Amino acid sequence: MLKRCYICKTEKPVECFSKNKGKHDGLNNRCRECDRAKNRKWYSENKDAHLMKAVEWRQNNRAKSAAYTAAYRKRHPEKLAASVEAGREHKKLYHKRWYALNLATKRAKNREWARLNPVAHLALCARRRAAVVNRAVPWANQEAIRAVYAEARKRTEETGIPHEVDHYYPLQGKTVSGLHVESNLRVVTADDNRSKHNFMPTT
Ligand SMILES: [Zn+2]
Repeated sequence: MLKRCYICKTEKPVECFSKNKGKHDGLNNRCRECDRAKNRKWYSENKDAHLMKAVEWRQNNRAKSAAYTAAYRKRHPEKLAASVEAGREHKKLYHKRWYALNLATKRAKNREWARLNPVAHLALCARRRAAVVNRAVPWANQEAIRAVYAEARKRTEETGIPHEVDHYYPLQGKTVSGLHVESNLRVVTADDNRSKHNFMPTT
């Protein structure tokens, strides 16, 4: 059975119309597609007010809201994975931006800490050196390793942006420790290196 949508003036199967008990045939006068277009338009024009209202509702209906969320996630398991991934990306970006903004402060703080805690600082430096030594292997290509460090210096001089050599798999990783070999080295900006810490590579 066909029904004509009064918005797009198209004859469409009745399945293309939402139910509406108030209408004589129990169906909306406009098709679902036009419905969606209208909702989208309304939403874009009233976004802020709508979001405020939604936040307010969620705060007043926590249990209901949690139940809706749980049901939605059950219906759309793929969206949960996507949103977790998006959250992770967001966090990474946020962290990076925060770090860039606070790098100078952070460095000054580190220097101050090193000045006040000379012994602990020496121990930390020693541990870092030891990590490099302990993760060194006799078969590493020393010449290739030196070339990576030379490249870092060259890029620093050429760009004026401090570059460092990063161990792609950290030497003191929590789960896996990388080796001090040329294939585990790459030149990165100091900013990128600092914000990575001893995290596992994500890319
Ligand atoms: Zn229509």
